[in-house]
Amino acid sequence: MGAQTVGFRRVGHVGILGCATTAIARYTCDFQEELVTYVIAQPCVDLKDRACVDECPVDCIYEGKRMLYIHPDECVDCGACEPVCPVEAIFYEDDTPEQWKDYYTANVDFFSDLGSPGGAAKMGVIEKDHPLIEALPPQPHDE
Ligand code: SF4
Ligand code: SF4
Repeated sequence: MGAQTVGFRRVGHVGILGCATTAIARYTCDFQEELVTYVIAQPCVDLKDRACVDECPVDCIYEGKRMLYIHPDECVDCGACEPVCPVEAIFYEDDTPEQWKDYYTANVDFFSDLGSPGGAAKMGVIEKDHPLIEALPPQPHDE
């Protein structure tokens, strides 16, 4: 199940899902938990110019109401999206600025009820945002 996979890797439900039943399984899960991905942070909110979407080779950048979100399992960590963002909203997970660390969770949790759709284009605008983004006041942008 895609939704379980997201929680499994990113939220640490390893033991709950039974992954610790064998040494081999535990090793596999520990390995997966160390995988990192790219994260979209606050500068994207209320801008959504979609420049990153055009660069993504696997169509894993999904559009919410106020910002875009990178699917942590579908992203292949190629880095193509990061340099094209005009407001530097995209970060390698480990490089996300401290004030935006929660956006990692926001990107992951956005997919908790969507699972792994396997492509953003067919989804269009998904009529929701993570609560962290919903709570923000309107974000000003020059362009
Ligand atoms: S790092 Fe690559 S695969 Fe991941 S969201 Fe960016 S362009 Fe897509
Ligand atoms: S390029 Fe940057 S601002 Fe534009 S949609 Fe992507 S993350 Fe948001």
